[in-house]
Amino acid sequence: MRPLKKIIDLAALRHNWQVLQAQAPQARIMAVVKANAYGHDALSVAQALADVAPCYAVACSEEAVALRAAGLRQAIVLLEGIFSPEEIALCAEQDLQPVIHHQRQLDWLAAAQTPLKAWLKIDSGMHRLGFAAAESEALFAQALCMPYVDWQGVVSHFACADSEDLAHAEGQLAQLQHLQLPDTWQRSYANSAAIFRLPAAQGEWLRAGIMLYGLSPFEDSCGADFGLQAVMTLQTEILATHYLSQGESAGYAQGFIAPSEGYLATIAIGYGDGWARRIESGKVPVLIEGRRYYLVGLVTMDMALIWLGAENYPAGTAVELFGKQLAAEEVAAAAETIPYTLSTMLTPRVRLEVRHG
Ligand SMILES: *Cc1c(COP(=O)(O)O)cnc(C)c1O
Repeated sequence: MRPLKKIIDLAALRHNWQVLQAQAPQARIMAVVKANAYGHDALSVAQALADVAPCYAVACSEEAVALRAAGLRQAIVLLEGIFSPEEIALCAEQDLQPVIHHQRQLDWLAAAQTPLKAWLKIDSGMHRLGFAAAESEALFAQALCMPYVDWQGVVSHFACADSEDLAHAEGQLAQLQHLQLPDTWQRSYANSAAIFRLPAAQGEWLRAGIMLYGLSPFEDSCGADFGLQAVMTLQTEILATHYLSQGESAGYAQGFIAPSEGYLATIAIGYGDGWARRIESGKVPVLIEGRRYYLVGLVTMDMALIWLGAENYPAGTAVELFGKQLAAEEVAAAAETIPYTLSTMLTPRVRLEVRHG
């Protein structure tokens, strides 16, 4: 068996849930498990939280149906809503709550008159999805004329809640605080970053993604700074090492030139596993027996290279790419990306090992 695997620590996930809940004890949390739970395996994650999470959030009905098929009974919110009127019957049948963000979706609901639960999305400044906050009065009036829809409330999303400068986020929050919501409607405004940085945005429902997985959405901090634990460890092994003399090249396009004589290790991970080809800058660390080494040369489809210098390790030695010992935030920063992408982009070829803790 190829040694590359993502090890998922469900005890860490449950710990993170408690940390988030303690941050907002009065609110309820939607566990955001879209995109296969950011690569952490949506079914394992959803099942591990089933006794504490009142609700899951996914991007689309396909992701929700997979949770229902596994027997999960919680509320499920569809963050992108529905993509065609045919999905209305599916939402009703599977008890899914689409986020309605566009007039054409409202028109589909009006034409179908199918009883279902749904949310309305207000665009308070992200300008990605949602109805303009300025038109909310007419929108709410229109919504209330649709008695077959059991409106749960309003969703909005912050563009910059992770930023040092909260001026933009506070501007969004001010717009949201001006909404005249019908009495029974609930508010869901905060993502992970806002839960910590904008407590005034907490409302009735939080939507927690990245921090549930133990990672920080903020630059210059790690999940551990918030008491969170990394849920995923990405681990592989050394397949071979080669001794190079100074100036000798290695890999496609002679992508690496040995700066001195020393050992070069080949490890099992490549862009076929979702390890982006540009993650080879010579600045991106890996961990071997507690010591940092750096990826060098060009990442290929199945393999990548590490410069060991004077050290050597036998084939089969474990290499951590990120996780428990080496923070994904540090690796992401070195790779000029964000930690969200490192776990989410992994392909199905990466073996899943779930630890129940
Ligand atoms: C992905 C997503 C979230 C979760 O965001 P995190 O930063 O991972 O906590 C919340 N709300 C919406 C609308 C999303 O698309």
